[in-house]
Amino acid sequence: MKRIVCLPGDGIGPEVMAVAQRALHVLAPELELEDHPFGAAAIRATGDPLPAETLEACRAADAVLKAPIGDPEFDAADIRPEQGMLRLRAELDVYANLRPASRGPVDLLIVRELVGGIYFGARGVRDDGTVFDTCEYHPSQVERIARRAFELARSRRGRLTSVDKANVLDTSRLWRRVVHEVAGDYPDVEVTDMLVDNTAMQLASAPEQFDVIVTENMFGDILSDLAAAMTGGLGLAPSASLGDGGPGIFEPVHGSAPDIAGRGIANPAAMLRSVALMLDHALNRPEEAAALESAVETALRDAPTPDLGGSATTVQFADVIIGALPRSRP
Ligand code: NAD
Repeated sequence: MKRIVCLPGDGIGPEVMAVAQRALHVLAPELELEDHPFGAAAIRATGDPLPAETLEACRAADAVLKAPIGDPEFDAADIRPEQGMLRLRAELDVYANLRPASRGPVDLLIVRELVGGIYFGARGVRDDGTVFDTCEYHPSQVERIARRAFELARSRRGRLTSVDKANVLDTSRLWRRVVHEVAGDYPDVEVTDMLVDNTAMQLASAPEQFDVIVTENMFGDILSDLAAAMTGGLGLAPSASLGDGGPGIFEPVHGSAPDIAGRGIANPAAMLRSVALMLDHALNRPEEAAALESAVETALRDAPTPDLGGSATTVQFADVIIGALPRSRP
């Protein structure tokens, strides 16, 4: 029996998680779903955004399905919900962040390195008041993300764009060298190097040229938001964060939307697309993933929520999803 740890989180988190669980009950009723506290809700209950019991459950799970966390109440606090998120990613060593973006002829996948680079390098303040953050990469960190990206490119259209700033940065020159070493094992994948500034321009002007893009942490952070904005907005964008062997984390890109929480109008599309990524990447159920993707397309067309200019409630959107899903045949 596969066990999924669900983290309903904060704000609209529990509202979109409820839709995800309804869809899973129909698509894969044999999955065991358990809820655990995380984020602001967990700080209120235990003083810790990632309680030990939640972390242990995540480690032992087949996958972690996470709704957004965050609450303005904790913006200036010492203990904040987002600290739990960074710790969970580091504890599960989910180094590969997958951000698919598609619309019309655009169908691309950004593979972002998630646990290295400038967000994790040495930082500090010098005596003269200068503040610094450093970008650091070990060759093994580049190799594992490159390998993951080549594998994904092989399973798609066989084209990989490796994004760096090798004309300026030493870490980028290391990145480029390692990517080309790994390329030797994937002769069927066509690899192209592209500088990050040019990539931003190409994404904005001709996004249909891309299949898989692989890049380091901060470049990927920025480019994946750009790609999401180009293909329907952050409200629709899902993500998967994967390690080697252990459970992955599947979550929407958007936050907890405190401005609309509790009103029953949250758009659950990004959460449902994250469930589809989980079915595909963690549970090896590509057919159910595709069925859910297609149900989301139907609901976006027939029952758009207010953020998309429609008037459907979260529950009405969910009803369309449930109606469009094939029933599982045990
Ligand atoms: P946000 O994504 O929560 O909201 C931005 C805007 O988009 C708001 O107007 C919101 O109503 C709207 N929106 C977002 N998701 C929506 C959905 N599914 N349906 C309808 N409308 C939606 O970003 P924010 O306001 O900057 O952040 C709010 C909180 O979320 C903060 O505490 C932040 O730290 C947190 N956050 C968490 C995550 C995460 O858990 N991965 C990611 C981003 C932000």
